[in-house]
Amino acid sequence: MTKRTATTKDGKPVEYVEVPDPPAGGMKKVYFSPDKSYVVAFFHDHQASTDANRIARLDAVLGRFNPTSDPEAGEYWKRLFCWPTGVVTRPTLGVVAPAYPPGYFFETGPFKGKEKKGKWFSSPKLRGYLPDAERGDWRNYFQICILIARAIRRLHQAGLAHSDLSCNNILIDPSRGLSVVIDIDSLVVPGMFPPDVLGTPGYIAPEVLATTHLPVRDPKRQHPNARTDQHALAVLIYEYLLFRHPLKGPKIFSAKSAEEDEHLGLGEMALFIEHPTDQSNRPPGLKPTVADLGPHLADLFRRAFVNGLHAPNDRPGAIEWERALVRTWDLLHPCANAKCPSRWFVARGPKAGPCPSCGAKPPAAVPVLQLRKEVRPGQWMPDGSLVVHNGGLGLHHWHARDNVFPGEKADRTRLGYFALHQGKWLLVNEGLDTLTSPGGSRVPPGQAVELKPGAAFRLSQDPHGRLAVPGFLPN
Ligand SMILES: [Zn+2]
Repeated sequence: MTKRTATTKDGKPVEYVEVPDPPAGGMKKVYFSPDKSYVVAFFHDHQASTDANRIARLDAVLGRFNPTSDPEAGEYWKRLFCWPTGVVTRPTLGVVAPAYPPGYFFETGPFKGKEKKGKWFSSPKLRGYLPDAERGDWRNYFQICILIARAIRRLHQAGLAHSDLSCNNILIDPSRGLSVVIDIDSLVVPGMFPPDVLGTPGYIAPEVLATTHLPVRDPKRQHPNARTDQHALAVLIYEYLLFRHPLKGPKIFSAKSAEEDEHLGLGEMALFIEHPTDQSNRPPGLKPTVADLGPHLADLFRRAFVNGLHAPNDRPGAIEWERALVRTWDLLHPCANAKCPSRWFVARGPKAGPCPSCGAKPPAAVPVLQLRKEVRPGQWMPDGSLVVHNGGLGLHHWHARDNVFPGEKADRTRLGYFALHQGKWLLVNEGLDTLTSPGGSRVPPGQAVELKPGAAFRLSQDPHGRLAVPGFLPN
């Protein structure tokens, strides 16, 4: 161990500790700072130091495209991205980046000390080795997917693309429901020469894989971009929610070699294992399916892997995934079976149960609030629903009003919670200023509205305030 000093592009010294066998990825080797608060990662490719495109791209990524310097939400994005904070040019080209927070390293079990790359959790085989405490419950995977979709939505909004989105470039912490996107330095920046990255097997979009045999400059060659990120994002979400790959089924695409079979099966002949009409790649006894994830996600998975698999422009955008995941989060209900492997299921109606993971039925009918928004004076349209349970996360601004999106800037204060009291389900008001009972009287904070089937009430009298219609899903 020797303390060394690198020099940033603007001439500042950066200390790091040289070790004989540093952790290394495909592109860089990584050294910690003496206090382990940051890392210095040097590119393997020594010619990188004179690669003007790469340096210009890094400048843009650290400068004008950097969400972590956003005055309003920068601190939020620092938790979702491990964004580089500086470029070093001596001894060779590299980047300075924050060290991963301790929650992203295994605390117990056979992998103690290793980074929590997503593949440990999405691969059924690797998952089998994990201690229970590290696996997390299913609701945490929804939260992880929301954070990943939100992070990618932010990149795409800025015109950036990740280009190598995969289970290796996202760390997840299922025990706490957190994720962070890493390896930010190969982003595709608008108007700049793209990085020489193909992607990671299993996440490369079919059109990219199908044209890898063409020369890099061939106009028919497909390169990573926002549309290919959309494919990788859909694969990641599918994997984290269902713990299997959406395209790897029993179908044999080429008997010649395993390599060609995979190349075709993930490339030009790729076929969704849950394709509604062509069942040739469907594993026997497939369960749960996308339908068990509820209508919002089932629809997006069909668009991503049926229509959009070979038609990149038809793929759902990251913001659509973010929105659908948030809406599905509102449908999650705890499973009655204490030994259920998921511990949560999507109460998608018309019945609340049974839980697709373990088959348990909820012990009673499940209350649900149908949310409606006013499209014209007096005319209310369905606009989401909120499944009610004891200990739920309660009611927030984005439920009470139709013009609030639960993104990075949302006020996350809870405005009300649900409780079963003497056999009645109540919405207890905590911060709804203009909650109004079904009979038309104001319900101030500290008081409650009883949820009676069909007895609609206003969550807010604002112009964007929603109407809530209580109902019960039979168990
Ligand atoms: Zn269950």
